[in-house]
Parts: sequence; C-alpha cells; structure tokens
Amino acid sequence: MRTATVIFLLLCFSLHSYANSDSSKGFESRLSGVEKLVYALPEKANAELAQMEEEQLVVNQPEDLLVRYYLAKATINFLLQDYPQSQAAAEQGLAIATKDSSEALQLNLKVIQALLYTGQSEHAARQLDDILQLAQASGDLLVEAEALLTKGIHLNNQGALKSSYAAIMSSLEAAEASGHEEVTGRAAFALGQLLLKLNGFERSQVMLQEAQHFFESRKMSFSQMLAQLDIAELHEKQQQREEAIDAYQSALTLARVLGDGRYRFRINLLLAGLYHELRQQHLMQQHMQLAEELQHREKLPFYIAKFQLLKAQSLLDRNALSELVSYLDETLPHILSATTNYRAQVELLKLAAEVYAAQGDYQKAFENFSTYHQQYVNLNSQEHLQDMARQQVLFDLERLEYENHNLNWKNVLQRMEIEEAQATVSGMAQAMVWLSLGVVSLLLMSLWIYRSRVKWGRLARIDTLTGLYNRRYLTEWYHRHFSKEGRLLVSRQLAGNLARIADFWKSERAHRAESHNPGGWDGQQTGKFVGDALAQAGQASFTLILADIDYFKNINDTYGHETGDKVLTLVADVFRANVRSSDVVARVGGEEFMVMLPSTDYESGLRIAENLRAKVAETPLMLDDGTQVQITSSFGVLTSNPSEKDFTSLCSKADELLYAAKAQGRNCVVSLQAI
Ligand code: GH3
Ligand code: MG
Ligand code: MG
Repeated sequence: MRTATVIFLLLCFSLHSYANSDSSKGFESRLSGVEKLVYALPEKANAELAQMEEEQLVVNQPEDLLVRYYLAKATINFLLQDYPQSQAAAEQGLAIATKDSSEALQLNLKVIQALLYTGQSEHAARQLDDILQLAQASGDLLVEAEALLTKGIHLNNQGALKSSYAAIMSSLEAAEASGHEEVTGRAAFALGQLLLKLNGFERSQVMLQEAQHFFESRKMSFSQMLAQLDIAELHEKQQQREEAIDAYQSALTLARVLGDGRYRFRINLLLAGLYHELRQQHLMQQHMQLAEELQHREKLPFYIAKFQLLKAQSLLDRNALSELVSYLDETLPHILSATTNYRAQVELLKLAAEVYAAQGDYQKAFENFSTYHQQYVNLNSQEHLQDMARQQVLFDLERLEYENHNLNWKNVLQRMEIEEAQATVSGMAQAMVWLSLGVVSLLLMSLWIYRSRVKWGRLARIDTLTGLYNRRYLTEWYHRHFSKEGRLLVSRQLAGNLARIADFWKSERAHRAESHNPGGWDGQQTGKFVGDALAQAGQASFTLILADIDYFKNINDTYGHETGDKVLTLVADVFRANVRSSDVVARVGGEEFMVMLPSTDYESGLRIAENLRAKVAETPLMLDDGTQVQITSSFGVLTSNPSEKDFTSLCSKADELLYAAKAQGRNCVVSLQAI
C-alpha cells in the first residue's frame, strides 16, 4: 500500500514537471513571437501579451524567460505611449533580473524612459548617466547606444538641440560598433527628426528615408509609419504638398495595417488640411469624415485644435452656416480667454470673425478679429525667435563638422555638457551680480544676449561680400512668410484692416447717436467692407525680381577680380538704396540678385524693376585712376499669389524671364503678370 502511494506520488510529480516544461516551451515560443512583433505591430503584440496573461501562462516560468517577457511588455507599452504601464512592467522585470546584467540595464533604461516622459526628468536624467557609465565600463555597446539614444531624444524634447545632436551621433557610433542594426536604424531616425526640427532639410531627408527603408526591410511597420509621417512633415515644411500627400497616404496605409485608430485619426486630419489648402474640397471632406469617426481616439490638444479648425472649415465649405455658428459658439469661449493658443486655434478665431461678419454680427466679428490679430502677432514673433535660434544651432553644428572631419562625438557631448554646467554656474553668479546692480543692468544684459544672438543669426544669413541676404535666408524667408504657417505680411495688412474696421465702427456709432437712430448696423455695407478687407488680406500678391549683371565675366577679365567684387558691392548698394525697407534683397548667385516685394502688384513691381535697371546703368564704378566701369543688368519680373506657388517653381520661372531679357539684348526688363 505504501509502495503504491510512493509510486503514485512519483507519477504525479513527473507528470507535473512534464507539464511544466511543456508550458515553459509553449511560453517561450509565444514570447519569441511577441518579441518579433514589438516594433512591427505593437498593438497586436500587446493583445497577445494580454492573452498570455489571461491564460495564466506567466506564472511559474523560469526567470530568464520572465525577464524577457517584462522587457517586451515594457517596450510595447512605451511604444504605445502608456508610460506608467511600461514603468510597472520594467520594475517587475528588474525585481527578478540579475543585477548589472545587460537585461537589467535595459530594463532600467525602460524605467528611465518612462520617467522622462512622465515629467520626472531630473532624477531620471541622472540615473541615465549612471547607466551610461556602467554600460561604457562593461563595454556593453548595445546598452550604451540605447542609453545615448534615450539621452539624445530627451535632450531634443528639452530643447537642448546641440547636445541632442552630439548624443545621437555618439549613439549612432556605438550602435554601428555593436553591429546592432535595429538601434542604428532608430538612431538614424532620431537624427533625421532632429535635423527636421533644425530645418536642415537635405540631410534630414536622407536620414529619414534611410530609416524608413530600414524599418520597411525589417517589417517594423510602426516605426516605418512614424518615419513616413516625418517625411511628410519635411515636405510640408518645404511647401511640397504633393510629396507630402504621398507620404501621408503611405503612413495611412500602414496605420490601417497596424489597426492604430489614433494615428489614423491624425493622418486623416493632416491629409484633410493639405487637401483644403489645395482646394480639393471633395477629398478634404472625405478625410474629414474619416477623422470625425475616429475623433474620440485623440487626447493631444494640438490635434484636437487642428480638428476643430478643419471641422469649422469643412462646415464653411459646405455652407452649413447655422451648424457652424453653433459649433463656434461652443468651441470659441476657451480660445478667446486663453493667453496662448495653438496656431490652429488662432486661425479659428479669424474664420469665426469672417463668419460672424457674414452673419451681420459685427460686435462678435470684431472681438474675434482683434483677439486673432493679437495672438497671431505673438505667435509669429515667438516662432521667428525660435527659428533664428535653431538656424544658429544648425550653423554651429555644420561649422563644427566642417572644421573637424573626424569628430569624436562622445568627447563633443562631454565638452558641451561641461560648458553647459559652467554656463549654469556662471549664470547663477551673474544673477547675483545683476540683483545687486538692479534692474537696469539686467535689462542691459538681456539686450546684450539678444544682440549676440542676432549677430550669430546674421552670420548664417548674410552674404559677406555685399552684406545682402544670401539664398538660404531668402528661401527660409519665403517659407516663413508665405507658407500657411506664417504670413507675417498678411498679418501686417490685417492690422491695417483692423484699424479701418474700428474707425468705421466708431464713426458709424457717432453717426447713429447724432441721428438718434439706435437701429442695428447697416449690415450689408459693413459686411461687404469687412468681407473685402478680409478677402484682400488673405491673398496679397507679391512681386519677385531676378537680376543678373551683364557681361560680368568681361569686367573680371578686363579689370581683374577685385574690381569685379567692387562692382558687385556697388550694385548691391544701388539695389538696397532703391527698394523699400519691407522688401528683401539677396545675392543668390555670383552676380545674380533677387528682390522680394511683398504686397506689390504687377504695375508697381515693374516700375521698381525698371527703376533699378536705370539706376544700375547710370551708376558706373569709378576706379582710382579715373576710369569709369559701365555696368548694366538684365531683369526678370513676375507677380504671383504666394499661397499658390512654391518657391522653386517661382525661381525657375523668373530664371526663364531673365534668360529672355538676355536674349533681347540685355539691359532690359522682361516680365510676366501672373503665374
Ligand atoms: P551674361 O550677360 O550672359 O550674364 O554674361 P556674364 O559674363 O555676366 O555671365 P557668366 O555667367 O558667363 O559669368 C559670370 C561670371 O561671374 C563668372 C564668374 O567668374 C564671375 N563671378 C562669380 N562670382 C564672383 C565673385 O564673387 N566675384 C567676382 N569678381 N566674380 C565672380
Ligand atoms: Mg551675368
Ligand atoms: Mg549669371
């Protein structure tokens, strides 16, 4: 009997362990499946994890498998932006992982990443540096690359763009040395994103496309979708709308495969915005409808604001005015009361002003319009300063790379961090001095900082020979002013219109008081007036002049290169002296100049070009020996509505006109009224 019991127990035991090893094998194979899906289909991988948990597979598994399990879970939740879940999973993994093992370091990194994204960054940043040191000490290149990448992305989010660049570059170096292609791909992606932020378009495009191809080859669909989105943004920033649409469409296809509702919402929204700009109503409505169905998925205020604007625009396009007014009444109050708003919200104020004016509610139209104008100006000046600072960073980095061909980015990063730390310490010391010197010195100091920033900004924008702007600045100027994002010039016009509306309003009120007529507004007349003003503000035409000195090569050949340079400076002076302060003159090639004339119609533009031609021809260069060097130049002039053309196509059109002027015998102007 006893023997029987023993045998029975033994049997039970062996059965149990058999079942257990079987379950661990099943667990391992399912875990491997999940690991393959992490970057490809994180939503699906997450569902599989939930399933495994529901089946109670996670209990009683060997520790090494559990560590892998928690690492996968933490990574997936991080990708899905559920940071608390990610942190919890990483901490569970850490509780069982061997101290200082590569897995433990990776799990630690996940905890830190989650902390960085949930606003507990100071403590986390210090921990990150500890891990980095540990990884470097143990020669763990993979963890080192990951830690540097995390650091780079964090610095980017903090706005420390220069150190971010150095960190990402070191991450790339470590990743390449580790032979771990997946980290290399992600680091290349991060670099592309940073360059996009810095408006370093060409290099950004190379990096983003490289990353995109890599993700595609690895079937990392989620990352691939993010890369496509950035490629689209890159094209949008450069006014290449068709290319942007293509990239968004590819991203949308990926989002559909991924089953990611939030990204499907965002992409449909962004596409609707582009189609709206291209005035393709039908496609706009189509994508708006898709976005509307997914609207509840979104939590980020940026996209919600964009959605509200586009929804209002689509209602306006469909002429659903009463629906639009009630939508505006419901959405506007908090925008009007907030001091800072997203650009989409500011734009919504303008749209509302137009709608209320069309409805004859001029009080509301005026309120919205004046808040719009005020916020618009603030937003633009903020962006302008930010642009300048970023341009300087890009310029500094380019110079650093140009001067040192084999940079060790790890050293650069260290040096930057030391400099930053010193700057903080000396900044604190300075603050003490400032305090004691009082408010005046503080003001002087900030003025000085502003000036030196401006000086650095200038260097990247100015042609050193003539002091005119260079091509790079001109391109950026065009995008800043005429892209949908920043129509400073339009805003200036709006200011004028606003004043006119206010005047009109005042005199109307006085008139009514005089005639004891308390009746309503003369709706039709005012409506037309406001409507005209707004319409006019929305589509200011501008004129572009391209000029090229005639037979300049002869001047160089006859009098020498130095004299040639003097001719260039003289012509630059003539140009500068004969345009308005709001116009922009740039040297865009050897002896080629471009003038941008905002808010200038065809006739005035042509007059200005003709005047410039005459002035150049009647201003010879006087040499020391009394010789006069005659100079003439040829001109191509065109007038355009900036919102309709991208800069490159305008330039090539201007080039054709200039070529025609040369063919007609030089020293003349060839023009085109509208393109
Ligand atoms: P066209 O009337 O057809 O414009 O004839 P061109 O001789 O002006 O045109 P071309 O393009 O043949 O020659 C332009 C010359 O300008 C060639 C180049 O050596 C000279 N150049 C370009 N940049 C500079 C510069 O910064 N300084 C000087 N001195 N010369 C320059
Ligand atoms: Mg020439
Ligand atoms: Mg030329």
